[in-house]
Amino acid sequence: MRTSYAIGVDVGGTRTAAGLIERKGRMIKEVHALTPAQAGPFAIVDSIIELIEDVASGAHPGEIAGIGVGLPAQIDFLKQTVEFCTNLPIAGVDMRSLIMSRVRHPVAIDNDSNCAGIGESRFGVAKNVRDFVMITLGTGVGGALFLDGEPYRGSRGLGAEIGHMIIDLGGPPCPCGGRGHIESFLGRPAIAARGREAAAEYKGQALRDEAGGDAEKVTAEDVINAANKGDEIAQQILLDAGGVLGEALVGIVNLLNPKLIVIGGGVGESCALLSERASEVIDEHALAGRRDVRVVQAELGNDAGVLGAAALAFDEHDSREGLHR
Ligand SMILES: [Zn+2]
Repeated sequence: MRTSYAIGVDVGGTRTAAGLIERKGRMIKEVHALTPAQAGPFAIVDSIIELIEDVASGAHPGEIAGIGVGLPAQIDFLKQTVEFCTNLPIAGVDMRSLIMSRVRHPVAIDNDSNCAGIGESRFGVAKNVRDFVMITLGTGVGGALFLDGEPYRGSRGLGAEIGHMIIDLGGPPCPCGGRGHIESFLGRPAIAARGREAAAEYKGQALRDEAGGDAEKVTAEDVINAANKGDEIAQQILLDAGGVLGEALVGIVNLLNPKLIVIGGGVGESCALLSERASEVIDEHALAGRRDVRVVQAELGNDAGVLGAAALAFDEHDSREGLHR
């Protein structure tokens, strides 16, 4: 049966969103809740179930193809298990079975960045692009690879962790335990740390102002806001970060020759400077013949994860039913 709706859930470290989505990507109903990150895995599942029930009430159960859930974790996609998770206490927890035991629909889980990539690929800026790379800049740095029209997840479904590619041997520590990874330069904590350093100097007035006068309280968002208002110190921090991003992307462009690079995530989407600088670096340093790659900001914002999770549910439904999309 060709169903009309799917439910997408995007579980974040701080917030969870769920939506009832039509096949063409229209969001019929959307709800949010804070993720009870400290309360343990069962509380997190309870909160996901509540959101699913809420959006499911917008359609007849027989019209719903399934449920896709994006988790901020490394997912073994083939086994549908959660391997590692730094932001939520769900590593090793069988999230899919726990959710599926309480709903009437099939459930598929995937990494949140893959879901955002699927969302942009199906409904957003990467529509009809067969080869693209998405990098999501937020508290962590995630990625998604689309090769030949399909998400590429690697042999165990754990691939595309672009944020944990080494760009500086022996560089600063990364939250994953490694050193010198992209995330250790571009995650919110790294940008905030540069911001606090600059705010402690005489010239950092605009940064101190954003943080209510306290240099110690400068966040990544304060740096972005000050930069967007024209403060040169804040702009320099983001230009440096964009330079690092660009260097990392040169390697990816040389390796994969994508047509498009999509910069998403809360930090990536609120800061054009970063992607512009990254684009310049690629122009200067990528191998010849690959420089026509376009670097663009993501289009779907916070909805990318929910839309992509729903697209995953449609795909799983259609392959079960032997339908082609
Ligand atoms: Zn790392």
